[in-house]
Amino acid sequence: MGCGACAGLHPGHIEMVETVDHAWRPRCITKDSRQGQVAEQSVRICPGSQTHYRPEEDCEAVDTTLFDEWGPVLEVWEGHAGDDELRYRGSSGGLVNALALYCIEKGGMRGALHVKARKDIPFLNESSISCDRSALLEGSGSRYAPASPCDRLHEVEEGQNPVVLIGKPCDIAAAHNAARERPGLNDKLGLTIGIFCAGVPSIAASFDLMRHLDSEDPSSVQELRYRGQGWPGNMTVVASKEGGETHRASVSYETGWGEILQKKRQWRCHVCVDHTGELADLSVGDPWYRDVSPEDPGKSLLVVRTRRGQRILREAIQAGYVVVERRSTSILPASQQNLLRTRGSLWGRLATLRLMGMPYPRYTGLKLFGVWKKRLSLREKAQSFYGTALRVFRKRLFISESWKHFNAHIHSSRRAS
Ligand SMILES: Cc1cc2nc3c(=O)[nH]c(=O)nc-3n(C[C@H](O)[C@H](O)[C@H](O)COP(=O)(O)OP(=O)(O)OC[C@H]3O[C@@H](n4cnc5c(N)ncnc54)[C@H](O)[C@@H]3O)c2cc1C
Repeated sequence: MGCGACAGLHPGHIEMVETVDHAWRPRCITKDSRQGQVAEQSVRICPGSQTHYRPEEDCEAVDTTLFDEWGPVLEVWEGHAGDDELRYRGSSGGLVNALALYCIEKGGMRGALHVKARKDIPFLNESSISCDRSALLEGSGSRYAPASPCDRLHEVEEGQNPVVLIGKPCDIAAAHNAARERPGLNDKLGLTIGIFCAGVPSIAASFDLMRHLDSEDPSSVQELRYRGQGWPGNMTVVASKEGGETHRASVSYETGWGEILQKKRQWRCHVCVDHTGELADLSVGDPWYRDVSPEDPGKSLLVVRTRRGQRILREAIQAGYVVVERRSTSILPASQQNLLRTRGSLWGRLATLRLMGMPYPRYTGLKLFGVWKKRLSLREKAQSFYGTALRVFRKRLFISESWKHFNAHIHSSRRAS
């Protein structure tokens, strides 16, 4: 999926490399005798291969009416960062980074592992452990491009104090899988915050965006922003022009996402079951259940998923780091109708892959058939089958050697575990 967990657990053996048409991908860089073992452990923790979702009995406080579609939901809140700049520069209300800042300044945590734009190549992302407000601010806003926050998990495991992990649902699932194998890492993950995610566009999608904004030459790009500085904020490119002039152009978030970026999401995102960070302590997205005016300074929707998340949220509210109001849990489905439809189609998509003999991710602990049956119309049900089959042919997935290779690893690792 490009999360980087395999590289994060095996530094010196695996590194992440960017691919223009997909996302970051792992590459083995050693040939020593541990290679087989490293590969096997990597596939075992890979969220692209398998993830077990917590059964609802884990916490008696979860809203059982929401569990099958949204995972464990203890509470839903809406609000923003107490710090105006974190709010302004944030993707929606800056809640994610405000919570991380609380954990660093008051919660005894060392920093936050998250991603930000590279300074030298602004259309690529890099992961970073940010230890203060200004470092966190550099990572404000969503990066609608591949990012591998888990590639630095070894630094989390080796550090003295716990760290906050911020990532997409797949990043959180990867860390969750890895922490089950490495108790030392588990102890150092002080809080996990998942951002909602409808899928990651490839680097090629960012090139399309830059072209749309009249920046043909990627090497001239000085800044590429996808959101933030307003809610949701515009997609903006700043590039240098001949003669030392600066070119600045923007497109609305709706156009940038709807007409450009989302067309080039990596394949794996189409068969992803978790778009809201179900394995995180807290997860954050947009409260799209209501219309947003251009003057709205931004709010985030926050889902409390664990007791630990609940405790840290209470403390951050008390300390003034976040300003939030409790909402009915029903605003979650009302805000994210598209993600609900995607969840509904998952059972059909996975069944099609199985029927075609293609590799497919294994999700346990979920009742996907029931959601498919309940949420989709007859037409949508049929579409979940033939749409997937068409995609397999269009994307020529069946002839890819690397998929066959990956499949072999998946089978051997599943047998082993
Ligand atoms: C690819 C993508 C798809 C998304 N799809 C949806 C959606 O369908 N529905 C929805 O409600 N919200 C979606 N979001 C999330 C939303 O854009 C906001 O991230 C969320 O509302 C949190 O806002 P905030 O202001 O509280 O976060 P901020 O305080 O701005 O913090 C955002 C944090 O997210 C981290 N981050 C940014 N980009 C990435 C990335 N690519 N990978 C890992 N971590 C990253 C940053 O490092 C930062 O710490 C998506 C985000 C991304 C990156």
